[in-house]
This record gives sequence, structure tokens and C-alpha cells, in this order.
Amino acid sequence: MQRVKLALAELEVCRLCPRDCEVDRLNNETGVCKCGRYAMVSSYGAHLGEEDCLRGTRGSGTIFFSWCNLRCVFCQNYDISWLGEGRVTPPSELAGMMLRLQQLGCHNINFVTPEHVVPHILEALLPAIERGLRLPLVYNTGGYDSLESIQLMNGIVDVYMPDFKLWNAETARRYLKAPRYPETARRAILEMHRQVGPLVFDEHGLALRGLLVRHLVMPGLVEETREILKWIAQELGANTYVNLMDQYCPAGKVGETEYPEINRRISLEEYETALESARAAGLRRLDQRALRRFATACM
Ligand code: SF4
Repeated sequence: MQRVKLALAELEVCRLCPRDCEVDRLNNETGVCKCGRYAMVSSYGAHLGEEDCLRGTRGSGTIFFSWCNLRCVFCQNYDISWLGEGRVTPPSELAGMMLRLQQLGCHNINFVTPEHVVPHILEALLPAIERGLRLPLVYNTGGYDSLESIQLMNGIVDVYMPDFKLWNAETARRYLKAPRYPETARRAILEMHRQVGPLVFDEHGLALRGLLVRHLVMPGLVEETREILKWIAQELGANTYVNLMDQYCPAGKVGETEYPEINRRISLEEYETALESARAAGLRRLDQRALRRFATACM
């Protein structure tokens, strides 16, 4: 209860994330993330598209929050993160969604894009746990989290699943509209790792606790991939579970006239280079799904 109060107080002069907008979200003022006093949810359900260790046989219980504190120009969920598709969801309703996902048999509750709604999640978890929620909680973030937010989640989140998108400030400025993204993501991911350690599975191969880092290989940016993978191995350990994603597809604002240099899928050679970078860094635990697709494509 004390932690919920502390978290909600953060909304009064909002510095919940590194944007430091300092707007009064308790009175529904909005900053970069456009979200006020209550969270907005775009959709929720049993999701079978996540990593095998999250989706299992009955799906990962995803709750997609509307809006976002990042401005990724290539966002695959542009309608949700840029245009705010979804509806206002007070804490009791958010708690009800978590319990419904549990009833459906989902293996976990997977908060997608939670950076700007950490207090709202904590506020909803209280009644949800009182009413019987007991699934592992997954914090599925773009990686632009403040240290304070991640510390508010200490002891509550079971699995942290951050993206580490870009390494250089200039590319982060161009493609995420957040030049401080690389240093912010590094700091946040270190804290996540400190809290939960490497990813561990149960006897069925489902994620129980730990860190799973996602990295989307981008066209023309394999050097960034190399630096990110090297950092992960050096700072978090070669045992870190990494999903080296191959599914980049032009979306959002990317097209022939805007950001034309990333207006294509990645090539097989680029993904192969990314894999070589992972091997050179010594990373031992790569998620197998993209690797299987790559092997099939090479046949
Ligand atoms: S959570 Fe939203 S309002 Fe608060 S600092 Fe971040 S972007 Fe700004």
C-alpha cells in the first residue's frame, strides 16, 4: 500500500520516465506519453506470438497499454503507441483483466509498454492479488525506464523483458526521438538484472524469473547490434537470455520519403552478421525461434 502511494505521488509532477515532463497527471495533464491519471488499454488476451518460454501452450496473458514514452518512427503498433487506440481503464478494471487472463489459463501476466503506467499497474495489482492473482508478472518494456520506476517494481516483477534497441545517441535521436535512450536503457537493464538475475525456467520450459533481453536487428545498423551484444555479454554475462529478432518490417512513419534508409527488411547477410556478433561476444543462450526461421531461410 505504501509503495502504491509513493508511486501515485510521482504522477503529481511526472518524472516517472526519463522524459521528465513534470506535468500533473493526477489532474489529467499529459506529457509526451499522452497518458493521464488512468491507464489506457488497447487490448488484452492470451497471446501466442511471444517467446516459447512465455507463451507455453496456453498463451502469455498480454495487456497492451495505449500510448508510449518512446517515439519509434518504425513502430509496428503505431495505432496504439502513437495514436492512442484504446480506452481508459481504471484500476479495478485492470485488475479484472489480469484475473480474466488467469482464468483463461495464461501462463503469466505480460504488461506490454508499461514504462508510463508503473503506478497504475501497482495500484491495480493490490486488488488483483487480494482477489487471487498468482501468475508470474512480466514487464515487457522498450527499455526507456527511469531507475526509480524499476526500483518501484523491485520484488514485484518476476520476468523483465526489455528491448535494447539502439546503441548510439544519434541513431536513438533519429529513430526513437530519445538521444539519451542508450545510456538510459543500459542503466535500467543493469538494475533489472540486479533484481532478478539470469532467466530461469520451470520443468516445462516456462519462464519463472529473470531477465530476457530483446534486440531487433535493423537494416543497415548491424554495428549497433554488435555493440549491444558485446555490452550484454560483458556487463550481464554470457549466460544472459537474448532474443535476437529478425522480423523488422517498415511501419509507422517509415516509407519512401521519410527514413528511406530503413524502408526495407533486413537481409539474410545482416542477420548472419548479427549472429556472428552474438557468437563473438560469447552469448550462449539465444532464443531459438528466430534461429529456426533463419535456418529455414538459408536452406
Ligand atoms: S511518464 Fe509520460 S508524462 Fe511522465 S515523464 Fe514520462 S512521458 Fe512524461
